[in-house]
Amino acid sequence: MRALQTELDELRQRGLYRQPRISDSPQGPVQTVDGQTLISFCSNDYLGLAADPRVVAAARRGLERYGVGSGAAHLVNGHTRAHAELEEALAEHTGQERALLFSTGYMANLGLITALTGRGDSVYQDRLNHASLLDGARLSGARLRRYAHADITHLRRQLEASTPESSGEKLIATDGVFSMDGDLAPLPALTELAREHGAWLVVDDAHGLGVLGAQGGGSLEHFGLPPDAIGALVGTLGKALGTAGAFVAGRAELIDYLIQRARPYIYTTAQPPALALATRQSLALAREEHWRREQLTRLIQRFHAALPALGLPVPTSRTPIQPLIVGDSAQALRLSESLRRRGLLVPAIRPPTVPEGSARLRITFSALHTTEQLDLLLQVLGEAPMSND
Ligand SMILES: *Cc1c(COP(=O)(O)O)cnc(C)c1O
Repeated sequence: MRALQTELDELRQRGLYRQPRISDSPQGPVQTVDGQTLISFCSNDYLGLAADPRVVAAARRGLERYGVGSGAAHLVNGHTRAHAELEEALAEHTGQERALLFSTGYMANLGLITALTGRGDSVYQDRLNHASLLDGARLSGARLRRYAHADITHLRRQLEASTPESSGEKLIATDGVFSMDGDLAPLPALTELAREHGAWLVVDDAHGLGVLGAQGGGSLEHFGLPPDAIGALVGTLGKALGTAGAFVAGRAELIDYLIQRARPYIYTTAQPPALALATRQSLALAREEHWRREQLTRLIQRFHAALPALGLPVPTSRTPIQPLIVGDSAQALRLSESLRRRGLLVPAIRPPTVPEGSARLRITFSALHTTEQLDLLLQVLGEAPMSND
């Protein structure tokens, strides 16, 4: 039998052991975590909507109207008008013909990729894609090929090499905004390459939706690409939209097909209807309240402007995800702990979430962060020992 305790001890020694902290507060810049009041720079609640009173009120109205549980899967009797209307609103927001709700982004990716590909097909993925995209490809039984991060030339070579031997489906999957680096996929080039090779292009825009584009439409809006430039869009509701769940959006026939074939859609209980109502409210706020995206831009610019004077490298990311690469896992952990002692919650992200040797502090901004809170972060970073000397 596997020596679990030995493996656990070894993880601890290598600085890779992980445990969830216990929070006693809603999402927001100031949180009480493990009994300590901290300024948090680690949430994916980029627009600050997770605890917005109007979103909470919409959820409450939903609870009163529908109760808590949906009671069954969508195809049984768990699909309420609240779900249907949210799907319509998400399709409209993304400019796609239809959208389909999933309980989580992880399941949306498993469902989409396993529905579209199987044995004999090929799935091409950016090396830094989210784990759920990779797992979807593994579960599908398709051949998984990973190309170097954002490397169009490498992907083209892989696609060309595979053409003669395989008549199967080809599917290219990419994060829109990379979750641990904050940089963008080269979508204009990817859409062209996908078209040339007759491949599906799946864009997982978990970190772009609500954040990028003038209306918060996401990565496609950012690049000025039309909705039909890609085969399928995956969006999550638990990040900028501040609730929970996910969706796939695309052409009507794709959605119709997923309803028949996506197992994580078919065999799981529909999310609580109150969540769907809360999400419609937060989606409306994300579209209308431009000040949230403007505040993020101000914070990112101020952060970048201040780093050189502190002797710290400026991340290339221009999204609310700002990684400070440390390298060594134990060192990243020590840094994160020293920031926590100074009242700041900034997680150390370590392998296997990021590649070996690229442990980092992953700083994320929220529209609710103030300039004063950012300046405190900068001050503490300036005093923290980023390297081992
Ligand atoms: C968070 C995330 C997911 C998973 O979404 P959940 O709704 O949290 O399961 C999928 N893809 C990417 C790129 C993500 O960042």
